[in-house]
Amino acid sequence: MKVKRKLKQRSKKEQRMARDVNHCISKKIVEKAQRHSSVIALENLNGLSKNKQKSKTVMKPQRQRLGRWSFFQLRQFIEYKAQMNGVPVVFVDPKYTSQECSSCGHIAKENRKTQDHFECVSCGLVANADYNASLNIRRRAIVS
Ligand SMILES: [Zn+2]
Repeated sequence: MKVKRKLKQRSKKEQRMARDVNHCISKKIVEKAQRHSSVIALENLNGLSKNKQKSKTVMKPQRQRLGRWSFFQLRQFIEYKAQMNGVPVVFVDPKYTSQECSSCGHIAKENRKTQDHFECVSCGLVANADYNASLNIRRRAIVS
């Protein structure tokens, strides 16, 4: 029982810390967008979140659960702060943003080698997977 309580306390502390970090990051993102008179593009995950939750019935370690929860909180903070500061937010179709090549547009599951590594099987582009996905999100925001 003692261990359980300690874990719970630590979890609360971790949540507070993650919340502070999210406040800080979202503030910086919105301030930067405001400075450059630009638009913030986010993936529209409303339709996706349910499916994702369904597929993750397996217990995950504390850090991963926190990571997921923290990710959605960060999005909420960005949306909220953007609205407060008059920065437009564009939501784009999240389909294949992580599998599509930002250079040639080729979409394949094989492009995403690992969580971090993107390598296009068509044109050979090598990039950080998150960076490649963010370029796709940006392009979709411009097109829409
Ligand atoms: Zn490519």
